[in-house]
Amino acid sequence: MTAPDEAAVRAALSTVIDPELRRPIDELGMLAGVAVDGGRVTVRVLLTIAGCPLRGTIDADVRAALSRVPGVDDVSVELEVMTPEQRQALRDQLRPERGIPFSRPDSLTKVYAVASGKGGVGKSSVTVNLACELAARGLRVGIVDADVHGFSVPGLLGITQGPTRVDDMILPPVAHGVKVISVGMFVSGNQAVAWRGPMLHRALEQFLTDVYFGDLDVLFLDLPPGTGDVAISVSQLLPTAQLVVVTTPQAAAADVAERAGSVSAQTGQRVAGVIENMSGMTLPDGTVLEVFGSGGGERVAGRLTEALGAPVPLLGRIPLDVALREGGDAGLPIVLREPSSPSAVALKDVASQLASSPRGLAGRSLGLHVQPN
Ligand code: ADP
Repeated sequence: MTAPDEAAVRAALSTVIDPELRRPIDELGMLAGVAVDGGRVTVRVLLTIAGCPLRGTIDADVRAALSRVPGVDDVSVELEVMTPEQRQALRDQLRPERGIPFSRPDSLTKVYAVASGKGGVGKSSVTVNLACELAARGLRVGIVDADVHGFSVPGLLGITQGPTRVDDMILPPVAHGVKVISVGMFVSGNQAVAWRGPMLHRALEQFLTDVYFGDLDVLFLDLPPGTGDVAISVSQLLPTAQLVVVTTPQAAAADVAERAGSVSAQTGQRVAGVIENMSGMTLPDGTVLEVFGSGGGERVAGRLTEALGAPVPLLGRIPLDVALREGGDAGLPIVLREPSSPSAVALKDVASQLASSPRGLAGRSLGLHVQPN
């Protein structure tokens, strides 16, 4: 058998993607050396940090890439660690400018802040499903789970691994193609987060500044329920963020959701639309069971349209669906687990509308500041 061609070996290695940074390892300065000796190839890879949780994945991906090169019959992968200078160079390459990348005027990322009046209406379930659906369509998607008291996004996506810290840069875990950072990743166990306004503001600012999301097409923010501090911080930190309001069909829930949406009248943010969740469920005999009544979504959309003086559409009605809840419990969102189920079909339709809607215009600055409590 003829020895492999070094160019072919390097071409194969250029297809190996760092699982956290989502860029080819050779572009990131992680490929420290390649030696071809007959059919034996030795590859030296520089990991960002010593305890890199994904070292096994990188090792396996290098071997898999080389197994496709004719003539390679033995692969040795030597995993080393970057020096502080090499890490700094990587940092500078990835984030040449400080600040929040999504708030720059030239940012192409669409930012959707998902809000609800109260907890338990399915805001997080809707967020993860929309994110996974858009990622499955090839978009680059991230989620910031800023629901400080009810963070549930990591569980809904089956994420058990924490972020990796590379000096002052935080690399978010990736699940189903979606990069995720959550308040829950910074507290141990099921501890409650006792943060108030200014601390929440700083935490959100740090997530948006220090977490390396790379170029994103869409960023979702899962807001805490209500009209609180985080919504105001979002409007300051990400003025182009558009609100998506989630409500149930119930009249009482709709009234509270309307208040969450009308915060945008004060902050000058655009409301991309309303999603009614837990809508009527079609039973096997064809009858529709409306556990939470009906009409809440239309009501919120109508009232926000009136209050804001701009059209706020009802983006969709997601039926109550046992499979959706099961998908959440299993860490595999329904759009991936049972894409043809009624709730997945409704969620995919909402995802299509968000994917095709234009980016938000910068909001009017009202000079709002979060006052220290
Ligand atoms: P929130 O983020 O608003 O607090 P979650 O997304 O955590 O709400 O949802 C609360 C509970 O309701 C979860 O157990 C979730 O699985 C379930 N759920 C959400 N939407 C639906 C739906 N359309 N059908 C059935 N269960 C749902």
